[in-house]
Amino acid sequence: MEDLRNRLLRLALENAVEHGGRALLDPVVRRMAAEFPELRPRLRELLPLVEEILAEVNALSPEEQRRRVGEGRRRERRERRRGLPELPNVERYERVVTRFAPNPNGPLHLGHVRAALLSHEYARLYGGKFILRFEDTNPSNARAEMYDRIREDLRWLGIGWDEEFYQSDRLELYYRVAELLLEEGKAYVCLCRAEEFRERRDRGLPCPCRELPPSQHLERWEGMKGGRYREGEAVLRIRTDLGLPNPALRDWPAFRVVEDPHPRVGRRYRVWPLYNFSVSVDDHEMGITHVIRGKEHEVNEARQRLLFQLLGWEYPTVIQYGRLTLAGTKLSKTEIVRAVERGELQGYDDVRLGTLASLRRRGFLPESIRRVILEVGLTPVDASLSWEVLEAQNRKLVDDLALRYFFIPEGVWMRIRKAPSLPAAELPLHPSHPERGRRLLPLRYEDGHLLVLIPSRDLEALKEGQVFRLKDLMNVRLLSKSPPEAEFEGLELLPDVPKIQWVSADPVRVRVLRPDGSFEEGWGEPGLKEVGEGEILQFERYGFVRVERTGREIWTVFAHR
Ligand code: GLU
Repeated sequence: MEDLRNRLLRLALENAVEHGGRALLDPVVRRMAAEFPELRPRLRELLPLVEEILAEVNALSPEEQRRRVGEGRRRERRERRRGLPELPNVERYERVVTRFAPNPNGPLHLGHVRAALLSHEYARLYGGKFILRFEDTNPSNARAEMYDRIREDLRWLGIGWDEEFYQSDRLELYYRVAELLLEEGKAYVCLCRAEEFRERRDRGLPCPCRELPPSQHLERWEGMKGGRYREGEAVLRIRTDLGLPNPALRDWPAFRVVEDPHPRVGRRYRVWPLYNFSVSVDDHEMGITHVIRGKEHEVNEARQRLLFQLLGWEYPTVIQYGRLTLAGTKLSKTEIVRAVERGELQGYDDVRLGTLASLRRRGFLPESIRRVILEVGLTPVDASLSWEVLEAQNRKLVDDLALRYFFIPEGVWMRIRKAPSLPAAELPLHPSHPERGRRLLPLRYEDGHLLVLIPSRDLEALKEGQVFRLKDLMNVRLLSKSPPEAEFEGLELLPDVPKIQWVSADPVRVRVLRPDGSFEEGWGEPGLKEVGEGEILQFERYGFVRVERTGREIWTVFAHR
């Protein structure tokens, strides 16, 4: 990722070019908030930097501004492309059109992100069109809330789409194609019991329905739509060659009766297309040129190709990739939905899940996810992503962003004898960014002794008589563990002494939600009262956390060390 300064510089330059040579504060700040949501909590703090950059940009001539914008765009394209192979067959089409086609039956997880990111990425790289299409033709599993959740996840990842469709709005179109096939004898309505059909199919034999004339099938089809058949009693099948080697491809089912109401269109329809049918009609109708999909769709694709042949359509170019799993998160969409609906999980952003919502909640940046996924790219072999890889990538990015604070999980109060009387300790909010300011840790004295809260884990690890440093404050020598007491040793930094985090006056109650769903409670420094919701912080020597709730208590969610 560009560092912060370069990102702002790019926005300011683009704004200047758009506004006749002069970048303006408001639009730049708005763009910044939109493009980098993770900076939102820090807008006020970043203002001086933005102003400085605006001054720098506005001092350039308009030609120079334009030159730099062009150069930046070229560099960006080169960088984005990194590792991704060229899209095949581009010259065959007028314009690249890709789509992401989620079934809104559950939340998105990393596995889906690959299809979404790559389809979007390629459309952008080739100046093409990217479509979001909700494949919601199974009323029994589509969930009303998932449409918005999916949109939110995509936006968060920085994926914008040019057009959006719901398959549940397109039934009349699917019906028209079905009727065309029925008229031409390329499809038929089968009333056989599923097992009986399968038994014949597997031996390459036609079922009795198959032999009837088109007029009778059209009549059965009207019956399906009109409610003559209950669920499971009638299916529309695509007529194929019964000699096809793979029985799963022979006369595959394309429509069935579903009596459940649909979350969007209610009971308007009772005959619904199966995935392979609606996906084919839409990929054709929408002019999709490139389909990027997992290889688990191999048999589906073979079915779709048969239908394309029957209809005389040209099948899009397909790019297949292997399965991508996140180690240790095995739940499938359906399992997640079931567990949430039963109340076994807190929600779709439960920290124990590998959903995007959960990663977002824990403070993973969209850019980290993008990078990791683009890195895996289009490998056709199955890959398992480890949390370590994802965390290492995120650490690289948040380390520069996150302000530092002291957090003491399970603390013990310790008395420091003979400590000089100091007003407060003053520490940088970020060790490599002095411009971000400083934080104050006030000190508490009682009967002339300094009182500090330190982690009990650290106290246990110390030996009596040992010298250690209260980080950024002073060195002390441990006199006794119980009661915990130490005495002042000096202020100057000493080599090789353990450094320990501490808080003294006005500690703030802090709660950390851990990735296993448990809570860790402790105390943090008073400066934490200033942090905003959504901000990502580093609790020194503890790890990165994302602030979820502020107020008298600060609630945070643990990201990683
Ligand atoms: N709705 C399908 C899925 O989510 C789309 C797959 C495809 O055709 O690429 O798996």
